[in-house]
Amino acid sequence: MNASAHSHWPYGVHPFPHRHLTGIAGLKAHEITFLLDEAEHWVAINRAQTKHDNRLASLTQINAFFENSTRTLLSFEIAGKRLGADVVNMMVAQSSVKKGETLIDTAVTLNAMRADVIVIRHDASGAVGLIADKVDCPVLNAGDGRHEHPTQALLDALTIRRRKGGIAGLKVAICGDVLHSRVARSNIICLGTLGAEVRVVAPPTLVPPAIDRMGVACFTDLDAGLEGADVVMMLRLQRERMAGGFVPSEREYHAFWGLTHERLARAQPDALVMHPGPMNRGVEITSAVADDIDRSAITEQVEVGVAVRMACLDVLTRARRGVEGWA
Ligand code: ASP
Repeated sequence: MNASAHSHWPYGVHPFPHRHLTGIAGLKAHEITFLLDEAEHWVAINRAQTKHDNRLASLTQINAFFENSTRTLLSFEIAGKRLGADVVNMMVAQSSVKKGETLIDTAVTLNAMRADVIVIRHDASGAVGLIADKVDCPVLNAGDGRHEHPTQALLDALTIRRRKGGIAGLKVAICGDVLHSRVARSNIICLGTLGAEVRVVAPPTLVPPAIDRMGVACFTDLDAGLEGADVVMMLRLQRERMAGGFVPSEREYHAFWGLTHERLARAQPDALVMHPGPMNRGVEITSAVADDIDRSAITEQVEVGVAVRMACLDVLTRARRGVEGWA
């Protein structure tokens, strides 16, 4: 697919006509590109000494996290604070969800707090969409089950675009535990929509059943899947989502599926290595590759993640703030 033709924002079309960001599915190439362009502006601001903008001043941002998170929660919190919002974090360990409250009751409660934007992470696929239907403000999905993690895909796309100068036509290998990965799903949709040639590379036990319907090539051998790749995206082995024996042992997984420099040599000489974090060092990736500043973009992913989240928070609250053309 040649995305360069349709990733351009068509004249007279609203740049982002969506109330929520629950997933990448359903977004058009020019809408994704619009968010990436907006984020680019924040990357520059975040590198400056004064990082505050305050356009979200007097708005309340609730980060409702029903599942553990380190970088995503921190990233959304920093993003909201740099934009001047009053940011409140609600963690599952302290919430009534542990006491048996239903998702709908939680949504009604969050709504009653009169939040202006809610960021939600939940371990159930589809939970964020359900809450979004019940509240009066924009909702951002910070990862729901195995479903989607849209801001991760956007920050990955921005990292690739900044390093490679574009996305269309690039060969992107998404490798490892694809079955349990919402990051893989959002990236397949995002990078495919932007015209990349996406392949998934995974052991047969970790390939999602409907992968043939996602328009990607599938490899069950890491060496074959890395051949000629421009971008190598490694995924965490998600032990917490595995009910049974999907892989024999971490040591064996590493032997067949761990990214080493030797294996990476099959990809393009300038192939970019990525990982959404948290990494299992010595399992899906060696420290030597992860820390190789010439190849790894892992810390850059974290850096531009804040910018992407600032862009999403800004864009989704524009109607609420009465920004001209968005009300
Ligand atoms: N941090 C990412 C997520 O929340 C990836 C991972 O956990 O492996 O999905």
